[in-house]
Amino acid sequence: MIENEPYYLSSGDEANLFQAAWEAKLPVMLKGPTGCGKTRFVQHMAWRLGRPLITVACHEDLFASDLLGRYLLMHEETVWVDGPLTRAARMGAICYLDEIVEARKDTTVVIHPLTDDRRMLSIDKKGETLRAHPDFMLVISFNPGYQSVLKDLKQSTRQRFVGLQFDYPPAAQEARIVAEEGGVSVSVAERLVTLAGRVRNVREQGLTEGASTRLLIYAAQLISRGIDPAQACRTAICLPLTDDDRLQATLADLVEDLF
Ligand code: ADP
Repeated sequence: MIENEPYYLSSGDEANLFQAAWEAKLPVMLKGPTGCGKTRFVQHMAWRLGRPLITVACHEDLFASDLLGRYLLMHEETVWVDGPLTRAARMGAICYLDEIVEARKDTTVVIHPLTDDRRMLSIDKKGETLRAHPDFMLVISFNPGYQSVLKDLKQSTRQRFVGLQFDYPPAAQEARIVAEEGGVSVSVAERLVTLAGRVRNVREQGLTEGASTRLLIYAAQLISRGIDPAQACRTAICLPLTDDDRLQATLADLVEDLF
């Protein structure tokens, strides 16, 4: 349960759309690059709707039983323990499956019956078919930027969700977010956002992804602790983005131009 309002600066109609989807009991897919505010948005909406939030970071070793639950041996007794998806469906929480494409394909399939109008979850191992609580909502995030066949969602999965598009916030808003979250002045935040704009243009030259809002906040947090801004940008923005020496040199030039 999220007690205090998570800071979220909206850049469009996403909160209304999300709320309407929740009321209509529709599952939602958040699309967008990493570090652009998807998780924060879900936290904010869970708080707004007064629902508990259960987040699962998906990875390639995530099995269906990790989501559904399993029998565990406790005090010489075998007891069933609900997995996060089952718990969310039972209690009426928002279940957020972050980076769903990372999960094994056979794992992704277990969410299917929850996403149609039956809103059922079949827990084979327990022999239970669970009807989801009326307040249950399934939210997944998905980064289409990777553009690899292996990292794509099957149509049979995609077409069960309504989509909300996320992107890096418009410059003025992103500066407000970086100032607020990073503890720097708006003018420093604006310079970081200008740098991000230029770095994001380097994408065409081979960077797979631009600098995320998250990385800008990291740089701001270093600056607010007295680290030289150029150094903070190299540490928090340039180095994490790429291992390619040529691109590193390009990024270093961009930093030097601005700081
Ligand atoms: P994602 O889930 O898209 O990878 P996050 O939601 O974790 O990204 O965002 C990374 C960080 O950026 C957050 O922790 C938050 O500090 C900040 N952030 C991004 N967008 C916003 C926003 N619109 N309002 C407030 N904070 C934001």
